[in-house]
Amino acid sequence: KELLKELAVRILRTLEDNGYEAYFVGGCVRDWLLGRTVHDIDICTNAHPGDVMRLFPDHVPTGLQHGTVSVRLDGQMFEVTTYRVEGTYEDYRRPKEVRFVSDLHLDLERRDFTINAMAMDRFDRLRDPFGGRDDLRDRLIRAVGTAERRFREDALRLLRAVRFAAQLDFSIEPVTLAAMEQTAPLLSHIAAERIREELHKIVDSAAPQKGIGLIVQTGLAGFSPLLDRLFRTSHEQAWRLVHLGTLNQKWALLMYAARFDPQEARTLCLQLRMSKREAEAIAQFVGLLAALRPDWDEPRDVEWGRLLLQAGWPVCMETDNLLQACWWKRKDRRSSRSLIAAYESMPVRSLRELAVTGRDLQAALERKPGEWIQRVLMHLLEQTALHGLPNTPEALVEEARREVARHEH
Ligand code: ATP
Ligand code: MG
Repeated sequence: KELLKELAVRILRTLEDNGYEAYFVGGCVRDWLLGRTVHDIDICTNAHPGDVMRLFPDHVPTGLQHGTVSVRLDGQMFEVTTYRVEGTYEDYRRPKEVRFVSDLHLDLERRDFTINAMAMDRFDRLRDPFGGRDDLRDRLIRAVGTAERRFREDALRLLRAVRFAAQLDFSIEPVTLAAMEQTAPLLSHIAAERIREELHKIVDSAAPQKGIGLIVQTGLAGFSPLLDRLFRTSHEQAWRLVHLGTLNQKWALLMYAARFDPQEARTLCLQLRMSKREAEAIAQFVGLLAALRPDWDEPRDVEWGRLLLQAGWPVCMETDNLLQACWWKRKDRRSSRSLIAAYESMPVRSLRELAVTGRDLQAALERKPGEWIQRVLMHLLEQTALHGLPNTPEALVEEARREVARHEH
């Protein structure tokens, strides 16, 4: 990690050697001061993009209209952005056009929160005109400048405030919070994709219950009645999310907690412009949980054998994670009851393992092919997996005959 910073220092030095100013800025400064791992380093400078491209031949012009050039050094990318201010804001969204300026202070002033509005030179000297370091110490998210005006300029900042509070487990400073309550309806002007990205980060954060609690408190989900209902009814269970491994599982657990049915789950996912694939995966988990009905904290006896056989092994493993999160007591260890154990204890787990095929049944029972084959095979699988029917051709054919007769009566 130190290595990454050393590389970036070389970029700062090159810029300075050529008569420009250059600083580390934004998220990386915040995270260094917090002792968190830094994955990407942003640099700001009074050099214009053309100068940056000239000084660093190995570059990608990733966002020239915003003043950003990505510089590659030793295979690592660094975003170098010219000091800038933003043009006029339209429709509560960030402006397309920007204006380059020569003063670092102006560049810091356009940034959203004090903890994100600090710069640091290559000797670790901090430029902190808005008290970001004090707010880090006090664990506060505070808007730079007049909070209400800043949220009106760009309503996405409303969710960013919540996101940083959830990721860092910080509080929102009272004046900033009051402004959020005032301006919450403006979030409806923001594209669903951008909202989704912030929501993902909140759901996936270290303190999701804090983030979701803030959304409920400020009314930020008001733009979608489904999302609003989801968060209002699930936020007391949201602490469980940190015990889950994937975003899909996290959304599914919230939706189960809010008693969503699979159709509501799908609808909300698509509203948030998740992919069809994600929507289906989440809806499937919600369906499985709705069928298994785990109580919070108390493992119940559930009839899960049939569900497991239908869902298959990969889904079974993920559903087990979900159940463990449902049964996770605040202090205790996770539950020892396990779907995986139940699955593994079955003598037979899939149609492929049965001692007869559909073709065998057709021949033995002398019947025409038809939908009956799939139905009878599933019946045989359940009987062998769960009810002790021996997995031999003789026993299976005999049971198949009984099942067909039963069905015809
Ligand atoms: P992360 O670690 O999640 O990337 P970050 O602070 O780097 O956190 P980014 O979204 O990458 O967040 O933005 C980089 C910087 O740009 C922020 O630290 C902030 O100074 C500024 N910034 C980003 N989005 C906005 C915005 N909507 N309004 C004002 N400033 C912003
Ligand atoms: Mg960043």
